[in-house]
Amino acid sequence: MIDFHCHLDLYPNARQIAEDCRRRGLYVLSVTTTPAAWNGSSALACEAPRILTALGLHPQIAQERRAELPLFDELLPQVRCVGEIGLDGGAASRRDWETQSAVFEHILAKCSAAGGRIMSIHSRKAASHVLDMLAKFPDAGIPILHWYSGGYEDLKRAIAFGCWFSVGPAMLQGVRGTALSARIPRHRILTESDGPFARVDGRRAFPWDVDVAQLRLAKIWGLTDKETEEILHGNLRQLFYRAM
Ligand code: MN
Repeated sequence: MIDFHCHLDLYPNARQIAEDCRRRGLYVLSVTTTPAAWNGSSALACEAPRILTALGLHPQIAQERRAELPLFDELLPQVRCVGEIGLDGGAASRRDWETQSAVFEHILAKCSAAGGRIMSIHSRKAASHVLDMLAKFPDAGIPILHWYSGGYEDLKRAIAFGCWFSVGPAMLQGVRGTALSARIPRHRILTESDGPFARVDGRRAFPWDVDVAQLRLAKIWGLTDKETEEILHGNLRQLFYRAM
């Protein structure tokens, strides 16, 4: 199974969670919210070759952490994946919109200059702005819109642009998230948990809760769980093949 967007370092028992992921053979993209967290987060993955740590600067803390951009630039050559990055158009974040945009633009320009990266992208209430920005930096790499919740027109645009998507149990529990997921080409989907932020059955999500997302995709696609897992694993191989 694959959890292509979780915050391993934000679990209180992060070491244990990382060890459980390793033991279960889970493929994990451990995203970070600040460049300063990257070293500690990647240390969690040191004995688990299937856990990759992404370098990020989350839009909701762009204002307080923008001084870490030089550290982002310094670490970028060491990583294959970048995230969590993006824009947040929610009421609380909108006052930081200019800083968020400047930070996101800086990151995309650096990824572009570095030859492209796999990018896990936040686009809550900001899908069309995220797509506008991505269009300005077509060489920034392969964008993966995590927990996409925008409109159907922007979804079409994102698909046409070449975006990938990561979908989780929380997204697939809702009618709308299910309808959006059904419109995503199945060769551009990966599963995610977005733990510990996302919730499943009233508790915080764990990386292995992606089994629920995989089952729901199987239902949408009319396939068995095993067939669905094969598609998702094929997608993961294809993603890294394309990113080489
Ligand atoms: Mn997240």
